Amino acid sequence: MHLFKYRNRELLAEDVHVKKLAEKYGTPLYIYSYNTLLRHFKAYDEAFDGYPHIICFALKANSNAAILRLFAKNGSGADVVSGGELFRALKAGVPSKKIVYAGVGKTEEEIRYALKSKILMFNVESENELREIDRVAGKIRVRAPIALRINPDIDPETHPYISTGLKKHKFGIPIEDALEYYKLASRLKNIDVVGIHKHIGSQITKVSPFVDALKRILILVDELTGRGVKIQYLDIGGGLGISYREEEPPLPKDLAKNLLPLLDGRKLTLIMEPGRSIVGNAGILVTKVLYLKKGVEKEFVIVDAGMNDLMRPSLYGAYHHITPIVKKKRRTILADVVGPICESADFLAKEREMPEVRQGEYLVVMSAGAYGFSMSSNYNSRPRAAEVMVKGEKHYLIREREKYDDLTTREKLPKFLNL
Ligand SMILES: *Cc1c(COP(=O)(O)O)cnc(C)c1O
Repeated sequence: MHLFKYRNRELLAEDVHVKKLAEKYGTPLYIYSYNTLLRHFKAYDEAFDGYPHIICFALKANSNAAILRLFAKNGSGADVVSGGELFRALKAGVPSKKIVYAGVGKTEEEIRYALKSKILMFNVESENELREIDRVAGKIRVRAPIALRINPDIDPETHPYISTGLKKHKFGIPIEDALEYYKLASRLKNIDVVGIHKHIGSQITKVSPFVDALKRILILVDELTGRGVKIQYLDIGGGLGISYREEEPPLPKDLAKNLLPLLDGRKLTLIMEPGRSIVGNAGILVTKVLYLKKGVEKEFVIVDAGMNDLMRPSLYGAYHHITPIVKKKRRTILADVVGPICESADFLAKEREMPEVRQGEYLVVMSAGAYGFSMSSNYNSRPRAAEVMVKGEKHYLIREREKYDDLTTREKLPKFLNL
């Protein structure tokens, strides 16, 4: 469910015309719907009501300060994967005791920062990382709360690039070695074992991989309890998919219905790390048609948003629905929607049957709220897009469009190159 709807043939973001926003703020432009974001967050919170839980929004899906603040104000925690994300989460007002920290390559600096910030726990991905966290914690005389990220070897049946829970992946600790790692963790002087973590992938469109993975993890939790290792936090990661095309992924309440019975009678706090399923359909990318070009085999619709603005099509061949902001009777064309960047991988859609569009017209790329702006770059020296949040009839600029000056402010000229 989202609040980008046509009324009298014109696309609205909540109660504001998308055209008006595009004209006011320029394009390419990310637009987010406040009420969609809030509804999606609450859908999780309410689905798991009745069982102790913390929803740790995965910052890497979208880390805009206004969006993080919105979630923080509604009780969200954060799942971070770098020192920068930890900084953003804290700055947005997420309580440190609701922050979990994953990632295979945490540096000493980042570990120290997280320890000093007193986060809820580190989701540890290897033996060497565990030993490093123990060492750094010892150095600054604190104890480090940890969970081990367990790789349950479950196929989430999603795109290979966003699948993370199989044996061949770099993430986590193989489930068959888990007991040994927990034994080691319990022996380390500055480590407090508090939880267990798994995250098997993203854009998962079925309940069964979540159920299967949780069952495997719970067997392990029981074995650990039997050996006197106390698990308080059960972190089941994120990964629930959204509808980009015709998929009908399960809703948080479907997850709850299937997962909560497995947790019955267990005294755990459940942690979830949703990203995409909260922000994905709550954001769109508006772009302008610059040129139309008839190729030999197909047409090219050249727009002002490129792979630097939205990388998912180039990176994963991901599908995003693209549609004009004005609905009318149109011929159907077969086209590649491409950006201005000098790369053949710079496309938003390939061989797409779509309505015929005109030069100067605005198009929207739907479901661009997750892994959209957060993956954007300055490639081809393109200033990054502006971001706007719409709430009812009101709209707020939540990130200014970058200026040319922003591109070079960090660069330094050695003296010997003076003119
Ligand atoms: C990316 C990631 C998430 C969020 O995944 P979504 O598919 O966006 O819900 C959660 N946890 C970890 C550890 C991740 O790496």
